[in-house]
Amino acid sequence: MQTHILTADDIDRVVALLKNGELVIVPTETVYGLGVRCDREEAVDRIFRVKGRPQDNPLIVHVSSIDMADRYAYVDEFAERLFTRFAPGPLSLVLPARDTVAVNVRAGLPTVAIRIPGHPLTRRIIEQADVGLAAPSANQSGRPSPTTASSALSEMKGRVSAVLDGGPCELGIESTVLVVEQRIPRILRPGRVTMEEICDCLSCPNPLYRKQSAAETLTSVNEAAASPGTRHVHYRPDAEVIAVESVSSIRSVRVDSKRDCMFCMNAKLAAVFRLRGGDQAGLRYATDVQTYEFNLYEWFFEAERSGYTRIFVELPPESPTTQGLRDRIFRASGSV
Ligand code: AMP
Ligand code: MG
Repeated sequence: MQTHILTADDIDRVVALLKNGELVIVPTETVYGLGVRCDREEAVDRIFRVKGRPQDNPLIVHVSSIDMADRYAYVDEFAERLFTRFAPGPLSLVLPARDTVAVNVRAGLPTVAIRIPGHPLTRRIIEQADVGLAAPSANQSGRPSPTTASSALSEMKGRVSAVLDGGPCELGIESTVLVVEQRIPRILRPGRVTMEEICDCLSCPNPLYRKQSAAETLTSVNEAAASPGTRHVHYRPDAEVIAVESVSSIRSVRVDSKRDCMFCMNAKLAAVFRLRGGDQAGLRYATDVQTYEFNLYEWFFEAERSGYTRIFVELPPESPTTQGLRDRIFRASGSV
């Protein structure tokens, strides 16, 4: 199959392909998504096949408005408040599903995750097609998510009808996935929207600040299974990823300038990498967390292309705003 690269001028063509049940890679503000209409089981099936995605990992449905969200899920008062505040944007809400969503989109669950993406082009397409798009990240299952049209194309070339180039993704990591149960919000996947902001919006106490007993901690660990996607390998490039928490953890490492590269924000870490034998050409800096998020996956792809086989990746210091990035680095390194 030939994969066509399309631009904003080709919106009508993208809409026609999607209405017809074809797969099209579309830009969002988080990462590039592999989109398909969410109401046809046989079309959705192709997403799982093309990505090699486990059937038990449900997909997020992208819609253009709260009204459209209510076509596929029961939008309650909490969801309405959250969408009003954070949509369009990087927040996916897990809500009770209506039977208008194909059953494989939600991996057989009674719930469906819904998001209103921030990229205006993709919102326009959804509005014109007048159908929600199931759109997981446009990568082979388990690999980093593409944040440029060219990376999406190299992941999926020949397997999809078209890639719509909407420029580099503004944010660079996937949305926060949230469920609200018995009025208590729970983050299933951390992202740019933090628990602090969610609790402020819902005027509720932050459940993360509540002291947990050992039994409660165990329950919440088991509950992670409630978001099936978190069980699978994720975000991993071909190279080995080594998460670096502090300068001391690489002080005794022998760095090979041909094999090893490093991503960091901390100048001291960069200096130690160089002292241990690392090459300047293998260093990637981000001056702040947002720039780090914006670059992380693209740097993974770049490192693969340059033939590096080990990537040292600095974990940014723990804080509410670094949870998403830390989660992706931990998972890429296989430590979650
Ligand atoms: P991706 O498509 O790679 O962005 O991953 C979507 C994420 O949303 C995965 O971690 C899924 O497990 C999660 N997700 C999607 N639908 C649901 C749902 N109904 N319940 C819980 N988690 C969900
Ligand atoms: Mg993904």
